[in-house]
Order: sequence, then C-alpha cells, then structure tokens
Amino acid sequence: MHLRRKLVVGNWKMNGSLAQLAELGPIAEAAKEAGGVDVGICPPFTLIAPAVTRSGGLMIGAQDCHARESGAHTGCVSVAMIKEAGARAVIVGHSERRADNHETDAQVCAKAEAALAAGLIAIVCVGETEAQRKVGSHVEVVTAMLAGSLPDGWEGGELVVAYEPVWAIGTGNVATPADVTEMHAAIRAALVGRFGDKGDRIRILYGGSVKADNAAELFACPDVDGGLVGGASLTADAFVPIIAAAAKA
Ligand code: PEP
Repeated sequence: MHLRRKLVVGNWKMNGSLAQLAELGPIAEAAKEAGGVDVGICPPFTLIAPAVTRSGGLMIGAQDCHARESGAHTGCVSVAMIKEAGARAVIVGHSERRADNHETDAQVCAKAEAALAAGLIAIVCVGETEAQRKVGSHVEVVTAMLAGSLPDGWEGGELVVAYEPVWAIGTGNVATPADVTEMHAAIRAALVGRFGDKGDRIRILYGGSVKADNAAELFACPDVDGGLVGGASLTADAFVPIIAAAAKA
C-alpha cells in the first residue's frame, strides 16, 4: 500500500457558472469508479455552496481565504465562511494571487495556518518563474518559498504542497519528468527536514499544464502524489482521464 493516497484537485480559477456544475456529476462518478484517488474541485467562492450540493462526494474547496476570522476586509472571505459553505479545502499562495495581489510568503503562511486551524485541507502552492529556472536558482527559490509559506505546527486539517512552476501554468509548457523529480525530491527533503515523519505523509502535487496525455508520465514520478489542474479540470471530458491516470499511478 502507498504511504500517500493520490489526490487530484481541479482549480476552476475565475471560470464556471451554475450551469457548469453539471460537470461535477460525471467527474464524481469517474472518481468513484477509479477508486484509490481523492478528487476535489475548487470553484469560485460563489459556486462553493451549490457545488457542495451537487458534489456527489467530491471534495469541494476554495481558491483563497483571508487569514483573519472577520473584520473590515472588503471583498475577502474567511476560513469560517468557506467552511460554512461546505468546503473542505482551500488553495493558498497560488502564483496568480502572489503575482496579481502581491501576496508574500508570510501572508500565505498566515492563511495556511488559519485554514489548518479551521480543520480545512490547506493546499500551499510554490513555484519558480522561467527566469529563475533559466539561471538555475529554481530549487533554492522554491525551498525558500516553502520555508516561508508553511506554518510550523498544526493539529487540525491536512497540509498539502503543490509545486507549480509559473512558466508551466496555463501555457502548455509542461515540466519534464526530470524537472518534476528533481523538485519534488527537494520539497520532500525539506518537508522531512522540517516536520520529521509527518513530512513524509504530506502529499506533494504537481501543477502546470497537466492534461490527459501527460498525466500518467507526471504522476509516475517519485514523490508526485497527484496534481493541481487548471484548464483541464473545467470539463468532465478533460478531467476524467487525469483522474484515471492518477488511480493507475
Ligand atoms: C493552476 O492554475 O493551478 C494550473 C495548474 O493551471 P493549468 O493546469 O491550466 O496550467
């Protein structure tokens, strides 16, 4: 038996509608049929509650949260609100939020801490830019990002790390198995170094242009415990083969 069960999470970003929740039915069916793999979808905030109603057992998550419980933070959503809507997970530190909203490692860490304290699965994203990879600093950059973005101890929810090279997100430029193997080994070593045995149980997802035709190869890499999938999670036709690949890996 594997130490870590595979996990595949769809990130719908700022896409989706009530009508598009119809995709959840066949995705949930496929997840049940595949067996041995956990599957989630993170729709925009407004779709969390209706998605939970139609989840068919899929884990529904949010794409971000605020670190504070409540207060004067216009436009923000707390972990308690996300939980009340029925979500079981939250993505924090996605590179689009780090870039668009100038989120720092410390802010990402505070969000992860709040999510874990609420009993949510915190999916913490890290990844290097193309320029950083070109000069060979990618491992150093990602491990430093990880060190700053992960909270020290936690008793509540589960911590998941998503390695998402910025240059691979939404570009079709998927990382090679060698790139992924190198980075996931470095992340695993950092997690074990910091958390001991607990670090060995943290799932590390790969994200960045995962599609039906590359999923099997990526999921077969050592220390790849599944994927965080953007574009290819929007329809059952595109997402179901990725779930099947994870189940077989
Ligand atoms: C993402 O946004 O997390 C992502 C991996 O996107 P895509 O699969 O579209 O590259």
